Amino acid sequence: MNPDSRKIRLLLQLRRGGVTDTRVLAAMERVPREIFVPEPFRDRAYDNLALPIGHHQTVSQPLVVAQMTQALEVGERMKVLEVGTGSGYQAAILSKLCRRLYSIERHRPLLAEAEKRFAQLKLTNITTRVGDGTLGWPEQVPFERIIVTAAAVDVPPVLVAQLTVGGVMVVPVGDDDDDQRLVRVLRTEDGAETEDLNPVRFVPLVPGVASD
Ligand code: SAH
Repeated sequence: MNPDSRKIRLLLQLRRGGVTDTRVLAAMERVPREIFVPEPFRDRAYDNLALPIGHHQTVSQPLVVAQMTQALEVGERMKVLEVGTGSGYQAAILSKLCRRLYSIERHRPLLAEAEKRFAQLKLTNITTRVGDGTLGWPEQVPFERIIVTAAAVDVPPVLVAQLTVGGVMVVPVGDDDDDQRLVRVLRTEDGAETEDLNPVRFVPLVPGVASD
């Protein structure tokens, strides 16, 4: 199958999976996922699969990236925080939809690769940092949207506190591989409202910066 028909097949799978937001679908169509996966997996870049990116981490399956992006309801004037840059694929999708994306990653070598990809694709509205995303990015608060792309044991209160009132966070929550759900959090005047979305499977959110 040629690359274009693989991409068309994937876009149909996203629609079937409930992704109807045309801005999200357009971003998924425009960002070349093959740039974000290691060479041996390039021919599977448009399969709806999570793929290994090294350091025991994975780039999420495209349907999950699209569902999380849709649930986040990103506006083009918004300032967004991503915890867990990984390959940079989710960041690239978000950068097409918001004003500025801040993305934080605990593995320095993964972030270095992601930064090269952003430069190659001329994505100039992404600011990155090596650090512990469980602490958020205090120098840049508040954020209108926060996306966490690793599984937290609970909705992280530190991150809720870094949202504007009316702001939204999407985060996978659960303490083992088989029992994680995507949770959508709405920051309110006096706390937060949470809503459970679909079951997912993410690598864990690990506190601290990695030593590599
Ligand atoms: N959004 C990524 C998904 C990568 S997997 C992509 O599109 O490819 C999750 C990532 O979260 C991993 O790279 C992992 O190193 C990172 N991570 C886990 N805990 C973290 C933490 N406390 N702070 C920052 N990054 C973290």
